[in-house]
Amino acid sequence: MSTNLRFQVVEEAFKKKAIEVNVPNERPSEYFGKYVFNREKMYKYLPVDVYAKLVDVIDNGARLDRSIADAVAAGMKKWAMENGVTHYTHWFQPLTEGTAEKHDAFVEHDGKGGMVEKFSGKLLVQQEPDASSFPNGGIRNTFEARGYSAWDPTSPVFIMDDTLCIPTIFISYTGEALDYKAPLLRALRAIDAAATDVCHLFYPEVKKVQTNLGWEQEYFLVDESLYSARPDLVLTGRTLMGHESAKNQQMDDHYFGTIPDRVQAFMKDLEIQALELAIPCKTRHNEVAPNQFELAPIYEECNLAVDHNMLLMSLMKKIARKHGFRVLLHEKPFDGVNGSGKHNNWSLSADNGKLLHSPGKTPEENLRFVTFIVETLMGVYKHNGLLKASIMSATNAHRLGANEAPPAIISSFLGKQLTDVLNHIEKSDKDELFNLKGKQGMELDLPQIPQLIIDNTDRNRTSPFAFTGNRFEFRAIGSEANCASAMIALNTAVAESLNDFKKRVDTLILRGEPKISAIIDVLRDDIKTCKPIRFDGNGYSEEWVKEAKKRGLDTERSCPVIFERYLDAESIKMFEDMNVMNKKELEARNEVKWETYVKTVQIEARVMGDLSMNHIIPVATHYQSQLAKNVACLRNIFDADKAKRLSARNMNIIEEIAERAEKIEKFVEELVNARKVANKIDDIHNRAIAYHDNVEPKMELIRHEIDCLEMIVEDELWTLPKYRELLFIR
Ligand code: ADP
Ligand code: MG
Repeated sequence: MSTNLRFQVVEEAFKKKAIEVNVPNERPSEYFGKYVFNREKMYKYLPVDVYAKLVDVIDNGARLDRSIADAVAAGMKKWAMENGVTHYTHWFQPLTEGTAEKHDAFVEHDGKGGMVEKFSGKLLVQQEPDASSFPNGGIRNTFEARGYSAWDPTSPVFIMDDTLCIPTIFISYTGEALDYKAPLLRALRAIDAAATDVCHLFYPEVKKVQTNLGWEQEYFLVDESLYSARPDLVLTGRTLMGHESAKNQQMDDHYFGTIPDRVQAFMKDLEIQALELAIPCKTRHNEVAPNQFELAPIYEECNLAVDHNMLLMSLMKKIARKHGFRVLLHEKPFDGVNGSGKHNNWSLSADNGKLLHSPGKTPEENLRFVTFIVETLMGVYKHNGLLKASIMSATNAHRLGANEAPPAIISSFLGKQLTDVLNHIEKSDKDELFNLKGKQGMELDLPQIPQLIIDNTDRNRTSPFAFTGNRFEFRAIGSEANCASAMIALNTAVAESLNDFKKRVDTLILRGEPKISAIIDVLRDDIKTCKPIRFDGNGYSEEWVKEAKKRGLDTERSCPVIFERYLDAESIKMFEDMNVMNKKELEARNEVKWETYVKTVQIEARVMGDLSMNHIIPVATHYQSQLAKNVACLRNIFDADKAKRLSARNMNIIEEIAERAEKIEKFVEELVNARKVANKIDDIHNRAIAYHDNVEPKMELIRHEIDCLEMIVEDELWTLPKYRELLFIR
């Protein structure tokens, strides 16, 4: 066996076989939601009146009556204990990506020297996690208040291992959101109110509009042995170096190809456990890059879908380990192959069963359809910079604009049919749009919108926000991100534009204009206004960047600068008007964003420096000495001329290694200095910009030298698993 650790781990990885998966005897429809306190269990474990009150809270947003909390907690405890549960936790979503939980046992002293299992309504409803170490952007210092978590009854509690998990929001005592869920719920409330109001123009009976989210999660799997031999993967989630493999995704042979056995076993295990937690997994397939896969459930109500995505990401990590893998959720773990995103399929549906972004059968319904499309575009247009900020992160920045993912400019693709409809409404004069004959004396003459629009063959993969028949697909979200961030911005923006639309229509109606005519008037204005956001061309082209700039769209590429959009006057106004977040919250959250950005780049820069100095340069110089020895030998054996000729190749490599090593050392020194300078900057916003402008670029330079060294240093000596090994699971 080779003494090279790399060869050993590769051998180990290639020998691994798929592990046996415990497949339940029941059908998926039978074990679906087994570990979730869903309605069926509520009905079984709660007194009838308590059940009714709780359902009213969940369905109609009724206030939670504290008097039922004890009964609910007792029912939950009974169910949980029957499933072997010993602990409970408030499960929340702090501003770091991921979830947080602190487990407490049910047991308490019984006062007689023994223990008793207890779980009261008070513990269910509210908890004070010792959360001083969660990022809060100074909110808690400012307000000198602690944070607490509060139960979100609209997302059901569930069991993970031996723990009852209670989805909660996380807020400060003065009411500022310290998490993603609190503002998400506020945004969903805002769009519900705004969309319901607009619905009344078409359907007076509507009481509630729900936001739907169907996410598609992309991810990479890497064998655990190989992973552990790559300190950069372990510490930063991505490879900071590594020459491209001769074969990667050129053959397109991975996409929709056969799934390797070990991966198949992992997916099966993951799906079973996800279904038991009521995550409605539907689709799985290979993605474009080798070792890249995707999982998509059926869409659900947005808040629940976000929770399910968070839960799925933790499940993935756990189950991957069981199968000897590590899951990489980083947006760009490998250079030169596709990165991972998380498409967010988004739509609105009213409680009369209408999908509001879907065309209908009558002209009136089609007007409703056009209304929701146009007002969505208005929101996206008006806040395109903010929407980009909502999906931006230090890690997603590596993926966007990389000719494989949406560009770093938000635009919307509508397809030919819908574009024709909007153009028709914009260009025809009003008489053309109406026939003065219908029942109400006026009939709308919209061009037929064929059901065919549902057929989504008309796709544009380069568009960050594409209409796909009955929904929009927001494609710019990062694979690692909490979907809530994008959903907060999008729903608030569209809520604002719907409110604004309704106000203008109402004004015209008050002036005596017929309803349909008023709607059309406002829509025609808006179709013109938001035109710059519509783009069906190639989003990867250089011309688009120029054109987008001309159109006034946000084309900024620097991540820390993009975050500034949250603090633009129109963003603050929007969030405050819609009661989603106030200025203080936005400022605090931006501080967290900049801080996270700095930390991410800082860690990468340190790992880069370490690996350069104690892995790469030593290995390269070791090889160089071997070559030098060989040259010396040749000189001993042959005459000077012949020795010179025969050692020419080695001499070149010796020189190249020396030069590249010298450059690496120089760049690492510059990298360290750039960091030192940046660290002295007090203002976190400016520090983040310094990290972006001065630290990041140095890493690129170092990487280039290292990747070139990888190609000339003897394979046997190279210590870090190479791309060709990391990327191909047998
Ligand atoms: P793709 O072809 O983009 O991979 P899929 O058929 O896999 O699309 O669906 C992607 C996601 O979109 C799924 O989660 C699906 O349930 C969801 N979806 C379908 N219709 C809607 C809708 N009207 N609103 C929101 N999500 C939807
Ligand atoms: Mg899709």
